[in-house]
Amino acid sequence: MQTIKLMHMYPNMLDLYGDSGNVEIIKYRCKMRDIDLEVSSHVIGDDTADFSRYDIIYLGGGADLEQQILAEDLLKCKDAISDAYKKGTFFLMICGGYQLMGQYYKDSNGEKIPGLGLFDYYTAASTDKGKRCIGNIVIKATLDGEEYNVIGFENHGGQTQNVTSPFGTVLAGNGNCFSSKTEGYMEPSVVATYLHGPLLSKNPKLCDYIINYVMTRKTGEKYTAQPINDKLEEECRQQLFERLLK
Ligand code: GLN
Repeated sequence: MQTIKLMHMYPNMLDLYGDSGNVEIIKYRCKMRDIDLEVSSHVIGDDTADFSRYDIIYLGGGADLEQQILAEDLLKCKDAISDAYKKGTFFLMICGGYQLMGQYYKDSNGEKIPGLGLFDYYTAASTDKGKRCIGNIVIKATLDGEEYNVIGFENHGGQTQNVTSPFGTVLAGNGNCFSSKTEGYMEPSVVATYLHGPLLSKNPKLCDYIINYVMTRKTGEKYTAQPINDKLEEECRQQLFERLLK
């Protein structure tokens, strides 16, 4: 049985709107393909492990306070995380986790939190704490050359700019900024997005995209996960499309 190793960063702090559910979805969809998911976690004070030995590094969303609290510890991991990124580890980042991997996040108190600077984008929130992007959101992404509508829920004050390669185009909702045309950031080994849900529970093909990338990298051969019964997920998606895209 193959094993995929996932590093879950700050699971006790970056877990807004059940983002840890994304790990459960990856675990389930791996198990359905006879792949074991081995989950490790990093919390404040842990050694800056050799992150390149992980196949996936995952960060969920978090409120401004939690982002402030963990920022110093995250910066200690900068070199190890940058090394993993350069070696091809897959990065999945949701909302607050997305923001912290860019140049900086300026929170709703005007406090500037330095990011890891892996990517060129940067984020600033309005000091008007009432000004937030909140609601259901649908974006059109492209996964391995195929268009795929991704559904989620957004709740962020941060407005992310200078995004050179977005995750998708906005069909309903806000996106990287208020009334933005684009959402998130994507590379073949990176999905960074504002979509909570948890994201992967509503978007099975996105989870399989991640599994395919990781297994192809591990085995050195093109891996395509065998289809599994996603009838319920697809029924839910169609209902949401009818409601959100009419
Ligand atoms: N605290 C950040 C913001 O308000 C991220 C929020 C989140 O992770 N949902 O933009």
